[in-house]
Amino acid sequence: KQNLSGKVAYVSGAASGIGAAIARVFAAEGASVLLGDVQVERGETVAAHIREQGGRALFIHHDVSDERQWESALACAVEEFGGMDLLVNNAGIEQTGLLADVELADINKLLAVNVAGVILGHKHAIRTMRPGGSAGKGGSIINLSSVAGLIGTPALGVYSATKGAVRLLSKAAAVECGRLGYGIRVNSIHPGLVDTDMGVKLVDDFVGLGVFADRETALRQMLETYPIGRTGVPGDIAGTALFLASEQSSWITGTEIVVDGGMTIS
Ligand code: NAD
Repeated sequence: KQNLSGKVAYVSGAASGIGAAIARVFAAEGASVLLGDVQVERGETVAAHIREQGGRALFIHHDVSDERQWESALACAVEEFGGMDLLVNNAGIEQTGLLADVELADINKLLAVNVAGVILGHKHAIRTMRPGGSAGKGGSIINLSSVAGLIGTPALGVYSATKGAVRLLSKAAAVECGRLGYGIRVNSIHPGLVDTDMGVKLVDDFVGLGVFADRETALRQMLETYPIGRTGVPGDIAGTALFLASEQSSWITGTEIVVDGGMTIS
């Protein structure tokens, strides 16, 4: 039996990396998946590939920092797939730089996408999923935070602040949705370094800032901090998202799952 048959999922930032992997795994497990992203061509390609594999998937252009686009995204899930059970707030951007050099425009950009975008996702998903909403049968919200939302990392201050916010938002939302009887669970995932566009840029930025001499040294030194001996691949995170989306985690809410090969405990 497929884990998500009959479920409808919305994955933000699904054109690339972790979001694309989650969309693929959810569809393979029987969910109808709406993929949103600002990268239209790549997003369409991921959705088309899922359909070629026999899955149900649709792509829409969606900037998570725009509230009206959240309204249309959720309405689209309900119209096209008849409901909304699973929301993955995956879209995110990073910015590397020293706090002494930070620009207000960059702070605001990160807050708009990584924090406001996630809060707006909760607002519109809750309205749709809760009893009385247009889907009305509860669901699961999964938020992509980061190990940077748990421990300090040099040159990632602004990004860390946004990911710490996502961690606590998840817990507040879990309590609110539980106490108010919405039947919606909310949890956060905290990946370590994952091989995606963002992961590659992060390493390059660290090299650019002089934290590491070059890319090779960066990867070697970073790997030493991962007891499992490798950095992550998008599928590592998609498996965790699948667990949090499925009934197997039906008594889990407000928790944080660290998926980092043991980096934060070593
Ligand atoms: P990625 O850059 O490969 O993918 C992020 C996607 O989000 C892109 O397709 C991008 O177009 C999209 N996006 C950016 N701004 C958007 C917006 N305003 N509206 C909609 N979509 C937008 O990165 P990834 O590594 O797959 O990251 C996915 C999530 O995982 C992010 O929230 C990231 O912070 C988090 N994360 C990544 C890593 C890592 O090492 N890669 C580690 C920890 C956490």
